[in-house]
Amino acid sequence: MKSATQLYIVPTPIGNLEDITLRALRTLKEVDFILAEDTRTSGNLLKHYGIEKKLVPHHLFNEHKTIESILERLRDGATCALVSDAGTPAISDPGYLLVRSCIQAGVRVECLPGPTAFVPALVNSGIASDHFVFEGFLPHKKGRHTRLTALANEEKTMIFYESPHRLVKALTQFTEYFGEDRLACVSRELTKIYEENVRGTLKELIACYANKKVKGEIVIVVAGKD
Ligand code: SAM
Repeated sequence: MKSATQLYIVPTPIGNLEDITLRALRTLKEVDFILAEDTRTSGNLLKHYGIEKKLVPHHLFNEHKTIESILERLRDGATCALVSDAGTPAISDPGYLLVRSCIQAGVRVECLPGPTAFVPALVNSGIASDHFVFEGFLPHKKGRHTRLTALANEEKTMIFYESPHRLVKALTQFTEYFGEDRLACVSRELTKIYEENVRGTLKELIACYANKKVKGEIVIVVAGKD
């Protein structure tokens, strides 16, 4: 028999508030408490769905310290949900450490399926989606060259998260490792009113964004090596 879940990982919308599942809403209503990356952001989200629930801060800066007390409550039989500011927790967001600790402590964990930015970006790109590597955010300085060198011969489609003000710099850097004719796609503001998916070679994408003030959230999908 399936033992009762104590920690639910609950994905939340990445822009469009309609993108939350019925199960996510029910879970958020039913758990004893909700761990949130930013209690204000998640508080606004819960208010939108008419959910009143105690929010406990759980972020990169306190997750190591709070894990023991969370585990204690879960071992005592409490149930909780983990949410991040947007998308799926543990995907370029806090969550991995808590999931791993719960598994080690024998606490049952369940991740609900739901919004995440990289899946629509990959599918919208029109670039091969049968095999891919998710890179998330590349390191800014130390380790960036090493990571990109390791990816230079990658044959699978590559997915990167990037901030808007570093977009052109990242695309330019990619040409050094992947060549300027490599196909790519920039997905900006997915699920929001001004969603945009621009497809082309890295050279074409640089030309498209070079003289623009780029705003919003961005995923870059790059084809693997032929
Ligand atoms: N947990 C999230 C997920 O499941 O995708 C990712 C959180 S990470 C801190 C935030 C990054 O995700 C952004 O900088 C951007 O690269 C990407 N992202 C999130 N929402 C997005 C959106 N609506 N459109 C494009 N990219 C998005």
